[in-house]
Amino acid sequence: MLSGKALHTIKACRFCWMCRHLCPVGLVTGKESNTPRAKALLLDMEQKGTTEMKVYAEDMFQCALCASCATNCETGYEPPVFIREARRNIVANGLAPDYVMNVIDKLMAADAETQKPASETADVLVYIGAHGTETAKEMAEAFGSVLTKAGVLYMTLTAEPADGNELYDLIGETAEVKAVAKKCADAINGTGAKKVVVLNPSAARMFLQEYPAWGLELSAEVVTATAFAAELLKEGKLKMKQAEGVVTFHDPCRLARDLEETEPARELIRAMGYELKEMIQSKKLTKCCGGLVLEAHSPKLAQLTASGRISDADRIDVSVMLTACPGCRSVLQKGDGKAEVKDLFVLLNENTL
Ligand code: SF4
Ligand code: SF4
Repeated sequence: MLSGKALHTIKACRFCWMCRHLCPVGLVTGKESNTPRAKALLLDMEQKGTTEMKVYAEDMFQCALCASCATNCETGYEPPVFIREARRNIVANGLAPDYVMNVIDKLMAADAETQKPASETADVLVYIGAHGTETAKEMAEAFGSVLTKAGVLYMTLTAEPADGNELYDLIGETAEVKAVAKKCADAINGTGAKKVVVLNPSAARMFLQEYPAWGLELSAEVVTATAFAAELLKEGKLKMKQAEGVVTFHDPCRLARDLEETEPARELIRAMGYELKEMIQSKKLTKCCGGLVLEAHSPKLAQLTASGRISDADRIDVSVMLTACPGCRSVLQKGDGKAEVKDLFVLLNENTL
């Protein structure tokens, strides 16, 4: 079953070509089935009985759910709505490819692990997200060091529960995802934190947009790590060395598009002394790197998509691409191209006294 909103969007998108050139996956594969239009057409054909779910099951997972199509749609349609619902139906009907089911099973098993309380007691809780990635670990260490230098007392969860964003992308709005989200909300509320500072923008999006829509209340104020650090800068709590060089910034989709946050990262980059050069498709119109979820089940497709983004930095002749998301950095680092991908907080830590 597809919702009325999904069916209405499918009707609008199935014969429309207007955003096909802005789909980062379709751009690098050149495959018609990787365009929003084709996905809508396949679902419309199924409604009319001229195709079956098993025919398009794989195609629905070849999408980063980046919402570039939706952001650029002049008429306000959102293909991720029907793609996410189609995935939910595909999984429920047992038609998801094995390589996707393996990732879903892994995410469900990880959530079953026992959670532990916070490391310390403080008003500020740092939620890292993007579990198991080396980039998240490195980003968290660098961010923690910046907070310490700024005199901010903070705590972390010793066994951080998943926020549910990966599972949500794969199986949509289901009871399983909401159960994961509830466990995470309970763990955060149990710390008594007044503010939760979130490193992974995908997790921040869940806390700020999906959790409230599902009736899950976080007692702490939610703020992204970039916004929090920029606030410390404004308050004069970050003392910077002055660096030199030209960099570009890759806006994470969830941060720039979903949370509409683009300036704090740029303020931090400029405060470090770097010249900032913008790529094509920056800020809210950012081009997706592929993302951790796509990488988990289709690493070659994610790598190709990441290479497409790195080529944007190469095109403006900038050798350093910064980003502020453990997922983006992890995926971009595997892409081909000349630009070196670095984490904003690692650089911020190096340049903070
Ligand atoms: S999202 Fe908008 S531009 Fe893209 S296919 Fe649908 S109607 Fe066309
Ligand atoms: S959400 Fe992103 S990857 Fe998916 S169809 Fe739209 S533009 Fe392409």
